[in-house]
Amino acid sequence: MATQYQARELQLPPASPEAVPYWDAAAEGRLLVKHCDACGRSHHYPRTLCPLCGSDRTTWQQADGRGVIYALSVTRRGTPTPYAMAYVQLPEGVTLMTNIVDCDLDALRIGDPVEVVFVPATGGQKIPMFRPLQTRDA
Ligand SMILES: [Zn+2]
Repeated sequence: MATQYQARELQLPPASPEAVPYWDAAAEGRLLVKHCDACGRSHHYPRTLCPLCGSDRTTWQQADGRGVIYALSVTRRGTPTPYAMAYVQLPEGVTLMTNIVDCDLDALRIGDPVEVVFVPATGGQKIPMFRPLQTRDA
């Protein structure tokens, strides 16, 4: 059985001043990751002080936009439309809690390659989400 993704009402997460550039970039179709120049690691959700070493030498980097499903849960009950929550690991070294969209929810598997898409929330702000990686020959 297939469960096709359907668009649903999306609310924005609470705004954090330190994440404003993240949301501005998402509105332009770009995914940003916060990188720490002191310890050389990236983190998410974006913060001014690196949560890994406490340094304030953090900078924005544009992510490649591809990742891999690390954990997955399809919600079918108590919601008007089923949807897939997932943790997606990026090659930049961070894991994002997100939704997987534009797909058969029943066909998703941990380890699947995915790519970022920007889905408008109520009010128009775009939220980075992921869909199965579209290969040219598929
Ligand atoms: Zn650091």
